[in-house]
Amino acid sequence: MPNNSAIRNPHSALATHGAHDYKHLISRWRRIARESGLTMCALAKESGYPVFFLKSKALAETGGLYFSAGIHGDEPGATEGLVAWAEKRVKQLNRLPLMLFPCLNPWGLVNNSRLDERGRDLNRVFQHDEACAIHTLKQIIKPYRFSCAVMLHEDYDGQGVYLYELQGAKPYWGEVLLDAARPWLPIEPRARIDGRKAVGGLVRRKIDPKHFQKIGFPEAIYMHLHHAERTFTLETPSEFALDSRVRAQVAMIGECVKQALPPGCLLAGPACGRGLRD
Ligand SMILES: [Zn+2]
Repeated sequence: MPNNSAIRNPHSALATHGAHDYKHLISRWRRIARESGLTMCALAKESGYPVFFLKSKALAETGGLYFSAGIHGDEPGATEGLVAWAEKRVKQLNRLPLMLFPCLNPWGLVNNSRLDERGRDLNRVFQHDEACAIHTLKQIIKPYRFSCAVMLHEDYDGQGVYLYELQGAKPYWGEVLLDAARPWLPIEPRARIDGRKAVGGLVRRKIDPKHFQKIGFPEAIYMHLHHAERTFTLETPSEFALDSRVRAQVAMIGECVKQALPPGCLLAGPACGRGLRD
């Protein structure tokens, strides 16, 4: 384990416990929906838990921003990061072109499990429709071509923050996203992550669909192939203090929005979602 004691939070055990409370998470999202005007709907019920998505009035079939969290239930910095970001910008949300999936594996979140109740890694089943929530997600997003799709994750082995950027539209954003997280977490120092070359916390890669046919399609690959100009998988180190991880996730989400939308869009004004740089 890395020497990260200086930024570990002595209260993180307590905070982490709260971060696995799905009912509480959803009550926060209901409040966000009420106050922002976002539409919030259940897309499926998995293991007794409703799985939700939200979308904004400004979302059009092209140019939207897709964020999802909680497909792995042992990564609560991701679900907390997304809700914390939305709570900070509740008055702006409906003017941004958003589609949000707050937690794709509620049973996993409650049970601190990467897998769902049936032992499936939901981030490896996007090539088929065996999981109800993933199948419905794919139906919902069918008409959309997003400016960017951002999958929020955490890594138990992480020694800092890092991200995957699939090679797509340019200019690349990976560096500026990591810069946004830098005040809250160290950048991942490993030169290889999951067998792939990493430089300064950035794994930028082309995809080989044959490889994923063997191991199963992750959400990011599916989004890259079918729905997104840019695709990012953000990873915070899950052994670090929850508060730092959440702040880093919030900063990177905010930077994605900033990069995607025209300057001034985050201020008062008409709905954004058209005229994006892409
Ligand atoms: Zn994950």
